[in-house]
Formats: sequence, structure tokens, C-alpha cells
Amino acid sequence: MAPVKTLPERTLDLEEIPSGELDELLASPCTMGAAEDEVESNPRLREATRILLEESGEDPERVGLWRTPHRVARSWEFLTSGYTANIEKILNGAVFEEKYDEMVLVKDIDFFSMCEHHLLPFYGRVHIAYIPNGKIVGLSKLPRIVEVFARRLQVQERMTRQIADTIVEYLDPVGVAVVCEARHLCMMMRGVEKQNSFTTTSAMHGAFKQPQTRAEFMTLIGTKLL
Ligand SMILES: [Zn+2]
Repeated sequence: MAPVKTLPERTLDLEEIPSGELDELLASPCTMGAAEDEVESNPRLREATRILLEESGEDPERVGLWRTPHRVARSWEFLTSGYTANIEKILNGAVFEEKYDEMVLVKDIDFFSMCEHHLLPFYGRVHIAYIPNGKIVGLSKLPRIVEVFARRLQVQERMTRQIADTIVEYLDPVGVAVVCEARHLCMMMRGVEKQNSFTTTSAMHGAFKQPQTRAEFMTLIGTKLL
């Protein structure tokens, strides 16, 4: 039997839309995600969004906002999907026995996360290196690990550590280094309004605690740690 789709309570009736607003609505790139509109969204997230709109002085019944609670709910579910991601499943079948014992480095992994203090995005790049101890992981899995921890409410320091700890847990390597460079919208759009500051965090395990190995890694990623 096909799964039952529950659509959010409101559907757009083009007849109802005041002329002028319709053009604006159709021109918006945000309203083009038809596929997004076909899936169910969490009613409590929709309700929370409606309250947020009202408390901001908006009218949730305004045409441009009709589907906003649904879209925000869907978007929020995606941005926090890391809570339900299963690392075990992601790495299943991708960890291999291998004698390689030099540094494995994947740099410039883009990520987008949400700061848990302001619910605003922070984004940037993660660099990961490890020195295997008999086990290696499929390279594409490292960005997947980053996603699992980025798609949660986070602080950059904890995200960096969680990525490193996961690699330690599953590969038991000679060493792991994770460096994360990020811009925080909570600093750029509000608060101190520093648009150009980068925050760098790092987590070093095992061999990367030694100055020489650590320095080699830093040179390879071209980043200076404070
Ligand atoms: Zn913040």
C-alpha cells in the first residue's frame, strides 16, 4: 500500500491571491521547491514558526507567508537531521584493513551548522587527517561524518571534537587531527558584527600531539593555529 501523504492544512488557491502579490510569489526562488511541498512536515514546528512570525509583527495569513511554516519545518528537520543519523550505518562496509601507515588527509570539507546559542548558522571548512593503524575508511565517509555532527545545534569546539572522537572510535588510528575554520552569522549579523573574523578550532589525538606531526599537518592544510 502506498504511504499516505498528509499535506499541510493550507493549499494555495490562485483565485484568492490579490494581483501583484501573485507576481511576487511566483518570482520568488523560495517558492519553487514543489517537491518540498509534497512531503509531510512536523505540525509542532509549523506552529512554532507561526508563533515566531506573529511575535515578529508579521501576519502569517499574508499570502507570501502561507506556506512558510511548512517550509521552515521541512528546512529545520533537514538542518537538525544529524540527531537521527546513524554513524554505524554510514561507516558500515567502508572500513578496510590496510597496512598503509602514512598520513591520510582530506581538506576543505565544506560544512553548514547552527549555533546552539542563537540558532543562527555558522559555516566553513573542516580538515581531517589521520595516521592509520591497520584500518582505513573510504574517503567519502569523512565528509559524511562531518555532516552528521554539523546538522545539529552545535558549538564549533564540540563539533570539532566529536568528529575527531568518532574517527578514534571507529579506526583506532595512530593519530587524528581535525581543524575547523568557520564564520558565525551570530557574530556577523548581530552582536559584535565582525564580518571578517574566522574562528579556528582543533582537536588532536595521538601522534598529532607531537609538534613535528602537527606541524606537518598544519603546513599541508595551510592554516595557522593560534
Ligand atoms: Zn551564536
